[in-house]
Amino acid sequence: MTKINWQERLSPAVNAIAPSGIRKFFDIAAKMQDVISLGVGEPDFVTPWTIRESCVYGLERGYTSYTANRGMKELRDEIAAHYKRRFNFAADADKEILVTVGVSEALDIALRAVLSPGDEVLIPEPCYVSYAACTTLAGGVAVPVAAKIENEFRVTAAELEAHVTDKTKVLLIGYPNNPTGAIMTREDLLAVADFAEKHDLIVISDEIYGDLTYEGEPVCFAALPKMKERTILLNGFSKAYAMTGWRVGYAIANETISAAMTKIHQYTMLCAPITAQMAAVEALRRGEKYKDKMVAEYDRRRRLIYDGFNKMGLNCFEPKGAFYIFPSIKETGLDDNTFAEEILTAEHVALVPGSAFGESGKGHVRCSYATSTDKISEALNRIENFLRKRRR
Ligand code: PLP
Repeated sequence: MTKINWQERLSPAVNAIAPSGIRKFFDIAAKMQDVISLGVGEPDFVTPWTIRESCVYGLERGYTSYTANRGMKELRDEIAAHYKRRFNFAADADKEILVTVGVSEALDIALRAVLSPGDEVLIPEPCYVSYAACTTLAGGVAVPVAAKIENEFRVTAAELEAHVTDKTKVLLIGYPNNPTGAIMTREDLLAVADFAEKHDLIVISDEIYGDLTYEGEPVCFAALPKMKERTILLNGFSKAYAMTGWRVGYAIANETISAAMTKIHQYTMLCAPITAQMAAVEALRRGEKYKDKMVAEYDRRRRLIYDGFNKMGLNCFEPKGAFYIFPSIKETGLDDNTFAEEILTAEHVALVPGSAFGESGKGHVRCSYATSTDKISEALNRIENFLRKRRR
């Protein structure tokens, strides 16, 4: 029997991407006893009851069908009302809003809707693992732009400018940032907006952590002057409402791009699950106070973990958003992969090596503080113990 070489038969784009470095460590940790995981970027809260109940109630009433491809009208109206209220930003619920299966799908179809083979996408790094992979899968070329710890991991227009070529088509930003916890101020983003305008770029702005901003005002990139026309705004319910498993997000973009994305969505997903959409309506109608409580708790944990790392003497930038902290581990003399492996084996603490988030993440580790204060304190003790032994 002829043996098929499946590796050769896979699409070159799939062969060009590596499996996510986050999952690898998570899978190893799952097989060990007594591990404290600061590895996964997922809220430890269960979705607030009022949101879960709306889904249960929907099922009781027999809501089990497809919805409109763009998503339920009630949900699109709530999303439009939310942006009007919060940012005085107007979006047409029928033409400019598309409900997706998480931000993950929105990111994928946004890139597929706009990229031609070889188009370049500027991606400030360190960044979420999917940005470069989805760019490659869509036929584009990811162009990393290193953000520096000295600049609190904010990217500047000058740094972006240095990477522009005649193939640059898209700028893909994600602030508050996974994995660094960096935020961009209004002034920072206005400079980026000028840069996008100057080079006539499409901006994909992933604002999934927008509500998890602890210092300064959250900024919606699409709501900046003249940016609505060129921005594909991505957001969702996973993080702020503790709804990762529901798989619901959305994209707000101008009519033409939104119609193009809806076409891809209609042939691939058809629609987001109806139960998740009903829950998302409830999140926007009555979830605010529960969200605020969770955000206040993340903020407490943020200060605990930041103080802990400082006391240990690890060089660490103070995160201002999301639920990650990104200390440098260069002083240990270990590279980030070895550090993560050794601390998992010796102290049973799961962290993610910074290089999983791009070259510029090397020498750092990502710790998620979306876990209880008890576990954070215990993890800090174990990390300190590890460092003490190495420093001896
Ligand atoms: N964007 C960022 C920056 C993320 O960190 C994540 C998940 O970790 C996602 C998007 C995916 O979100 P969703 O659950 O809405 O697909």
